[in-house]
Amino acid sequence: MPAITLEEAIDGPSHLHDNQPYDYLIVGAGFAGSVIAERLAAGLGQNVLLIDRREHIAGNAYDCKDAAGIMIHRYGPHIFHTNAQRIVDYLSQFTEWRPYEHRVLASVDEHLVPIPINLTTLNELFGLSMNEEQAQAFLASRAEPVANIRTSEDVVINQIGRELYEKFFRGYTRKQWGLDPSELDRSVTSRVPTRTNTDDRYFTDTFQMMPAQGYTHMFEQMLDHSRIDLLLATDFNVVRDRVQYKQLIYCGPIDEFFDHCFGKLPYRSLRFQHETLPQTQLQDVAVVNFPDPAVPHTRITEYKHLTGQIHAHTSISYEFPCAEGEPYYPIPRPENAELYKRYNTLADNTPGVTFLGRLGTYKYYNMDQVVGQALALYQRIEAELQGNPRAVKLEAG
Ligand SMILES: Cc1cc2nc3c(=O)[nH]c(=O)nc-3n(C[C@H](O)[C@H](O)[C@H](O)COP(=O)(O)OP(=O)(O)OC[C@H]3O[C@@H](n4cnc5c(N)ncnc54)[C@H](O)[C@@H]3O)c2cc1C
Repeated sequence: MPAITLEEAIDGPSHLHDNQPYDYLIVGAGFAGSVIAERLAAGLGQNVLLIDRREHIAGNAYDCKDAAGIMIHRYGPHIFHTNAQRIVDYLSQFTEWRPYEHRVLASVDEHLVPIPINLTTLNELFGLSMNEEQAQAFLASRAEPVANIRTSEDVVINQIGRELYEKFFRGYTRKQWGLDPSELDRSVTSRVPTRTNTDDRYFTDTFQMMPAQGYTHMFEQMLDHSRIDLLLATDFNVVRDRVQYKQLIYCGPIDEFFDHCFGKLPYRSLRFQHETLPQTQLQDVAVVNFPDPAVPHTRITEYKHLTGQIHAHTSISYEFPCAEGEPYYPIPRPENAELYKRYNTLADNTPGVTFLGRLGTYKYYNMDQVVGQALALYQRIEAELQGNPRAVKLEAG
């Protein structure tokens, strides 16, 4: 992974020294861009220039040590979970793993209770001692059936009724998205299950673990290839007409690529406030959620739970959702999906460029899904290069 300068990139692949164009320019060194860069270089011998406008690799999964030497995730907690063995196999070439099952507590009515809502949550919040069957009946008696489930509000009220919806979902969602759940696609709250047993794991995937030496280290191993030149702190606009390349893979925001010609695709952003505290531990689990609308942050993350690091101090981050800033979350509303479709059609009619990743395809994807999307693109390119274009559909998972 030679890290190079813009002048060197203009001269072409650094291992050739002969002004050849790059086979691929890849924009964005997050999961999408880095996985496809690795595959094209190592699998197909392609010369790749991978760029990022940030001064580091790993995209939003970037982790680093703070001033006290405690490993933190600069862009909020990233927990790896997947059901796909092939994704684990692929990433395991570049990292060892630390077993980790994620647990989250919610601060509600002066209680700290498990979220997703489970038997413990219900018993603690309502001062009851129900068993699983009783909890099922309890929820069924509160559920308010919604005939046509369209929005995020419908999903929750249909399942658990208005009181629990107000306590756990309404305030949190309004803070997180700047919209009422009644204005958001059903997919947002559908992701959060409700349980009547005592399972308090946030995810139930087969594989739940963290890269043993962190995400950035895993990316360093992935990109450690002589055919991958890496140019950081450089925006695509700077290299666009100055570097020679045959094909472009773009993992930045698709609307930005087309100069917002149909208007801006809305994204939700986040502000992180990182703090190091002079104590070994702040909270019992990695993440505590704050659904209360009067509290400005949505959650507090304590990173040592994720990394297992032993340290006399601890590091945390507060998360404040906001409208302006880095594009983090595509906002799932029908009109945004329509707008994205227009950009996607334009993309289909723009030769030489492929859009990839969460920003390139304007969809909330977990890390494993983005890896799956990049590997699917690789299969398609491999088939085309081998003169055997199979219809490999570009999709996640
Ligand atoms: C707060 C938060 C928490 C998350 N938690 C989890 C989790 O627990 N588990 C999970 O599986 N997933 C999680 N995710 C999702 C995860 O971050 C994404 O799936 C993953 O980062 C997507 O990878 P990507 O390469 O598509 O995008 P990114 O990681 O965003 O990478 C895109 C890169 O492109 C660069 N770029 C954009 N435009 C340009 C340009 N014009 N020129 C140069 N560079 C450019 C950006 O700087 C960025 O580095 C979380 C996301 C967020 C925001």
